[in-house]
Amino acid sequence: MYIILLGPPGAGKGTQAQELARSLGVPHVASGELLREARQKGTELGLKAGSYMDKGLLVPNEIIVGIFLERLGQPDADKGAVLDGFPRSQDQARILEKALKSRERDIGKVIYMRVSNQELIRRLAGRWLCRRCQTPYHTVSSPPKVAGHCDVCGGELYQRSDDKEETVRKRLDVYHQETAPLVEYYRKQGNLVEVEGEGNIEAVSRALLALVA
Ligand code: ADP
Ligand code: ADP
Ligand code: ZN
Repeated sequence: MYIILLGPPGAGKGTQAQELARSLGVPHVASGELLREARQKGTELGLKAGSYMDKGLLVPNEIIVGIFLERLGQPDADKGAVLDGFPRSQDQARILEKALKSRERDIGKVIYMRVSNQELIRRLAGRWLCRRCQTPYHTVSSPPKVAGHCDVCGGELYQRSDDKEETVRKRLDVYHQETAPLVEYYRKQGNLVEVEGEGNIEAVSRALLALVA
């Protein structure tokens, strides 16, 4: 079961993907995490990707496609995965389809998480992430039990440099230009299901689980 979580930056993909993946018994594969990891390791691709990420732009396919498909080809993703952050363009959607087809696999559902721009800006301004396990928190809607530390692993929390307002606005523009057309693309293919992403975390969780049950 390959599930794509589709939605703008801040929609709650990362927040929901972990539990969804656990309940399906498949890994959560997040393109942004893979890129941030490559950046931290200082690999050539990682450093190249960084200059695009800091501007709020999509990184070129030459950088992301290989990294993402390699992760998706690992044995733990053989039966399925929750895809978060990929595909982000129609080109990437076609590349993914071909890759899965060559492995005799198919996309199951594409879940579109709908959230207004105003709420996205509020969410991203207050987002903190665990440096160790990437769990997202929010200063208001999902604060950690101990300030500055992850509930799951105790790791240190940090704010992403691309979550500053100016870069967030750019990322939302890029989303509407390049990624939002995927909603219609998958609707036409008959894979699309929608959830109202604006409710609280538990309500969205329940809605998602009901969709994949
Ligand atoms: P968010 O979860 O806030 O939407 P991500 O962590 O998914 O952000 O992505 C962070 C950045 O990484 C993006 O702004 C973009 O520069 C880059 N990125 C992630 N996934 C892709 C992708 N599929 N194609 C191109 N760039 C990507
Ligand atoms: P994405 O991966 O789609 O970019 P995240 O899962 O990182 O989004 O969530 C963005 C921010 O919004 C985080 O700070 C997270 O704690 C918070 N958040 C996620 N879901 C909700 C929700 N349903 N209501 C309020 N805040 C949320
Ligand atoms: Zn953690």
